[in-house]
Amino acid sequence: MAIRKILKYGDPLLRQKSKEVSKISKKIQTLAEDMLDTMYANNGVGLAAPQVGELLRMFVIDVSTPKEKYNPIVLINPKIIKKSGAVACNEGCLSFPEVYTDVRRYKNVTVKALDIKGKPFIIEGKDGELLARALQHEFDHLDGILFIDHVRNRFEADKKLEEKGLPPVQADKLIDETELENIIAETNSVIIDKVEEDD
Ligand code: ZN
Repeated sequence: MAIRKILKYGDPLLRQKSKEVSKISKKIQTLAEDMLDTMYANNGVGLAAPQVGELLRMFVIDVSTPKEKYNPIVLINPKIIKKSGAVACNEGCLSFPEVYTDVRRYKNVTVKALDIKGKPFIIEGKDGELLARALQHEFDHLDGILFIDHVRNRFEADKKLEEKGLPPVQADKLIDETELENIIAETNSVIIDKVEEDD
């Protein structure tokens, strides 16, 4: 059990692609525990291994509210097997302290992964709920993609980043999400609740 240092935006490791976990060893189990400790210590709802400097395809999530019991979920070698719909939401990230901006996400997502014992399982996030958004946010980290790459208003995001002393949005990393934006405009799927990290 240990709280690890979270890398901040600007650290080149956050832009690297992570490698599959080849064996769920004691070291991987300890890393998962440390990631959960680190996430809870920072009031996050998700944390990916590259955020603590480990370029491995794994992340942790807990989208339970403070009133509920802890519900930690460890996902190892996750794959997105289905996604649909679109939603706009206000998002943040533990690697971007106190920066929140509107991004586009799929509304529904199904992910297949291994648990901490190596057992496969499937998890579904629906209706643009926190779980759906957190799964996409954390999965992105494993490919070096950051939430600001999904930003709806780049200039507003740049202003917020500058205020917190972080580098600006990287234009070459922005993802073309015209299709998602069109669905959002048609369905008016905008979620206004503020999501703490990692979302
Ligand atoms: Zn993040």
